[in-house]
Amino acid sequence: GLKCGIIGLPNVGKSTLFNALTKSHIAAANFPFCTIEPNIGMLSVPDDRLNQIASIVKPKRIVPTTIEFVDTAGLVKNASQGEGLGNQFLTKIREVEVIAHVVRCFEDETIIHINGNIDPKSDINIINTELILADIDLCEKAIIRVQKRIKSNDQNAQLELVLLKKCLKFLSNFGMLRHLNLSNEEKSAIRYLSFITLKPTMYIANINNYSSNYNYYLDQVRFLASNEKTIFIIVCATIESELAEHMKLGIQEPEYGLNNVIKAGYKLLNLQTYFTAGHKEVRAWTIPVGTTALQAANKIHTDFAKGFIRAQTISFNDFITFKGEKGAKKAGKIHLEGREYIVKDGDVINFLFNV
Ligand code: GDP
Repeated sequence: GLKCGIIGLPNVGKSTLFNALTKSHIAAANFPFCTIEPNIGMLSVPDDRLNQIASIVKPKRIVPTTIEFVDTAGLVKNASQGEGLGNQFLTKIREVEVIAHVVRCFEDETIIHINGNIDPKSDINIINTELILADIDLCEKAIIRVQKRIKSNDQNAQLELVLLKKCLKFLSNFGMLRHLNLSNEEKSAIRYLSFITLKPTMYIANINNYSSNYNYYLDQVRFLASNEKTIFIIVCATIESELAEHMKLGIQEPEYGLNNVIKAGYKLLNLQTYFTAGHKEVRAWTIPVGTTALQAANKIHTDFAKGFIRAQTISFNDFITFKGEKGAKKAGKIHLEGREYIVKDGDVINFLFNV
């Protein structure tokens, strides 16, 4: 599954959100360093299509895809200089694929704000500055290593040096690398470094309750997110956490609620889902948009890919409309696709292969 890191200043509601997301019971206390060890929680990705397919096939098992949430603590001003739990935090956050940046937009005098007052714009700035400083440090060290490789006549090193210098310059102007126009080749050349500011990031505004009218803080975060052309989600972590205990989902409007955190992770990483629908199990699989049938087969089993003959595909809508494979076949809605076929979101696939 996909790995998502939750970041934000202390006391903004990260642990509460994490609780809500994973229904686990880590302590969410009014204490800045409550989550001392990064906490990890697995979550099944809710997908109603999976249930609809299962209601037709009636399999023994239903297997959703998963998303892993990492709740990180310790990012404060000067974390990159090792303050708070800074370094530990930065190592953890390098391992995730997508970042959820939680911002406090709720007022509550009993809950200490680390800088005295609520100011989403400044809060975001503090965090982003620390991430940029951490990436500058990483980049400078990488440049030193690459320069050594140049001395030993490594051909690729020269190109990498140019690229890293470009990154360093951008970071030094307080840019986040995800806003630097890097080609896919350039991105894969520096992938091994796991720059934090290159990771797709969503902003999550944490509010007091869903029914309150206008919230001045929300607009600040919304504006910032839209400037960065990224996803903005509003949650009420405390309410979602209570609902989670009762296994209910909160508000489901486009900008609001927990479900959108998961959807946003998918969207930011350009991921989609295809299904396999056997009598043993109906299962959802996560693949990047643009994946070929052969690559999708390989995700299930390398044998599927090695002996690949054809992918027998039915669109999700046809599968439901014609009540499963038999019906779809009668209606002429089964397609036989070759290895280069680009899998579509929602495809129900049966791989035909030689053993
Ligand atoms: P973290 O340090 O970012 O992980 O923050 P926590 O999740 O531990 O939350 C800190 C405190 O704020 C806890 O006492 C939470 O119950 C409280 N809290 C979290 N979200 C909200 C909210 O939306 N409204 C209010 N009033 N309190 C909240």
